Amino acid sequence: MKKILLIEANKAFAKLIATKLRVETGYDVIPAGTLAEARVLAGTQRFELAVTGLDLPDGAGAEAVDFLLAQKIPPLALVEEYDERVKRLLEGKLIVDVLLKRTTEDLNILGSTVKRVLANRRVKALVVDDAMTYRVMMKDLLESQFFRVFEASDGVEALKMLEEHPDIKLVITDYYMPNMDGFELVTRIRKKHKKERLSIIVLSGAQAEDVAAKFLKFGANDYIKKPFSDEEFNVRVNLNAENMDLIESIHRMANSDFMTGLYNRRYFFETGNKEHQKAAREGTKLCVAMLDIDHFKRVNDTYGHDAGDEAIKKFARILQDMLPETCLIARFGGEEFCVLMPAADASKAKGLLETVRKAVEAQSMVYGELEFGFTVSAGVCSKQLPHLEEMVNQADAMLYEAKHGGRNRIRVA
Ligand code: GH3
Ligand code: MG
Ligand code: MG
Repeated sequence: MKKILLIEANKAFAKLIATKLRVETGYDVIPAGTLAEARVLAGTQRFELAVTGLDLPDGAGAEAVDFLLAQKIPPLALVEEYDERVKRLLEGKLIVDVLLKRTTEDLNILGSTVKRVLANRRVKALVVDDAMTYRVMMKDLLESQFFRVFEASDGVEALKMLEEHPDIKLVITDYYMPNMDGFELVTRIRKKHKKERLSIIVLSGAQAEDVAAKFLKFGANDYIKKPFSDEEFNVRVNLNAENMDLIESIHRMANSDFMTGLYNRRYFFETGNKEHQKAAREGTKLCVAMLDIDHFKRVNDTYGHDAGDEAIKKFARILQDMLPETCLIARFGGEEFCVLMPAADASKAKGLLETVRKAVEAQSMVYGELEFGFTVSAGVCSKQLPHLEEMVNQADAMLYEAKHGGRNRIRVA
């Protein structure tokens, strides 16, 4: 398990912080009451991050912070008061953040801050600036926030980088650069990458009043005026990363079925229609299957609704395990599922669904004290019809036939 080092002299308070961090991050939190204890721990274990107080019994001022930086353990400082003395003590040190430790709300902020920076490890950021000193400075800052950093010295190079790493989620760019300036870069990026998937933050020392508005109108997510403090830079960058994550989770929720985690009907038609059109264009085969658990009402009536839910989840897992990744699997509602199978003809579809049918028939559900089995029926449309919806309806008609033919079987049209 990954670990966070917590250096805090007050034991009761350390306990509160440790609990908060464990809950928010899932990481193990190892406490040290003194700098001496921290030294021993750091010598024997690996830590992803450290949360430390200042003015420890055996470490005056920011001694703990310096020790952690030397050990390459990113430090987050917790202070009673964010005053001039603290600012001076921490000035120029590449720390994760400095946060207060007075109220429960302070603890909440600590929890969400640590969670955010740990999440940043998945986020690729691109720094674009022709001045090397600025580039290095921003790279260091971004790395102190756990981002994975790439660099480019102008817009042309930046676009090339984005081609090579399409999963870059954050671009921090200067305005004035040779070859291609920040403004043209923003405009060009927006032709390909949406605002909610790739954040652009512009940094500029431009004095003209309308520069920020101009950038924001043409697709930048944020604008920071030079000179800026490390703190402002970090807060803004994290806010942008957080917004992208929120939008992504909204998308995920809108596209998936809560109970099984499979796609929902909405997503099925949205993505399925594209697959269907592509298949028509390229002249490749495509099958659509409807599947439904047999006598599911009986499962509910005999074993209870919760057991029914478990059966639905189990069936969803079997579908995911047995069908190739290229299949688009969706829960349409209740115990009814629809699968789009690209590059499959009737016999391939039938073969795949047979393995599903058999796996369902062979398994038995254990729910509390109860043990029970169930079967499924499926209908397949293998005819290439002009609309996906027609193929779904045809598959549904075949499912109806499978049910009337005795259930636990597959019918192909
Ligand atoms: P058939 O073999 O013809 O499919 O018979 P069936 O009993 O499965 O018939 P039907 O499809 O009409 O019944 C579906 C039942 O599923 C009715 C409904 O109460 C129940 N159901 C729908 N959604 C859920 C759910 O999310 N959880 C549970 N436990 N039951 C659900
Ligand atoms: Mg049913
Ligand atoms: Mg049904």
